[in-house]
Amino acid sequence: MSVPLVDLKAQYHAIKADVDAAVARIFENGSFILGAEVRDFEQAFAHYCHTGYAVGVSSGTAALQLSLMACDIGPGDEVITTPFTFIATAAAISHVGARPVFVDIDPRTYNIDPAKIKAAITPRTRAILPVHLYGQPADMDPILELARRHGLRVIEDACQAVGATYHGRKAGSMGDLGCFSFYPSKNLGGAGDGGMVVTNDKELAERVRILRDHGRTDHYGHQRIGFTHRLDALQAAVLGAKLRYLDTWNEMRRAHAATYNELLASCDLVTPFEAEGCRSVYHLYVVRVSRRDELLAALHESGIGAGVHYPCPVHLQPAYAELGLSRGSHPIAETCADTVLSLPMYPEMTREHIDQVVEALNACMS
Ligand SMILES: *Cc1c(COP(=O)(O)O)cnc(C)c1O
Repeated sequence: MSVPLVDLKAQYHAIKADVDAAVARIFENGSFILGAEVRDFEQAFAHYCHTGYAVGVSSGTAALQLSLMACDIGPGDEVITTPFTFIATAAAISHVGARPVFVDIDPRTYNIDPAKIKAAITPRTRAILPVHLYGQPADMDPILELARRHGLRVIEDACQAVGATYHGRKAGSMGDLGCFSFYPSKNLGGAGDGGMVVTNDKELAERVRILRDHGRTDHYGHQRIGFTHRLDALQAAVLGAKLRYLDTWNEMRRAHAATYNELLASCDLVTPFEAEGCRSVYHLYVVRVSRRDELLAALHESGIGAGVHYPCPVHLQPAYAELGLSRGSHPIAETCADTVLSLPMYPEMTREHIDQVVEALNACMS
């Protein structure tokens, strides 16, 4: 029996009737762009995140880009973020013409280290953009406090953390704006690309709403130069059907993580650390090992779908060569990039799947 890294088909089969009905509804009513489906899902999602507003957009990257634009961040500005993330976090900053300024991570949580942020603040700094990596919220209280003291915006990249909490507060609801991705393999995944911006600020919500739809304020009135960055009605319908199951799925992920932790306790690797007050939703279950690449290859040989998130920190990517950063600039992120290993994680996996992964891991490591 092989175990995949994720299994989207298993989820579809578990909720096929709901998804099929949602898709059929859209084809029957013929309303593919915005409209009631998108509005209803935005409302349900805002309610889920405990925010006043939610605006559906075309991807997590679009959510980040439009959030930065809504804060009037652009050329000449700097945005502080983590180098240990999916490249889209930094790319969104670059897309608006601003410059990403990287701050190294906490080696336990893999999230931006708040203690290192202050030294990176300059007169050009406009925002802090923490990422809630693998489903665990970054340490938000010191970040929010720094931002308040220095007059900075906080934009949360919650793309991997839908439903996670930090001292009872929902990921995405703590900063000025929170950004989500509905990429199919995310904890709440669509049937294609999609994203969401949440906020408690009516004005910021309105700016994102205008920007996502050609800068439109009425059908032929365009207040700003905008984009085609809307959430599809088809995606909204599918996501609305799936949102009802999200908490159950996240609980299943947490239970699988607990089982892994227990079974791997005596193994020569570092299991995930959950910070005090944080409830991770385990978008990924990530361990750290030595000789990672050999182990990864051996696991693949045994039919175990392991992965690496992410093998190269953003500051060392060729796309960011212009920043002039080299190995040693952010040593903790670099070490983590060399040693992290993602094990299979999806709600529908069984105890047998987990046992199989652990057996293969033990065999490959001995
Ligand atoms: C998935 C992801 C994104 C980008 O989302 P898309 O919907 O693929 O554009 C951004 N940041 C993080 C941390 C992500 O995991």
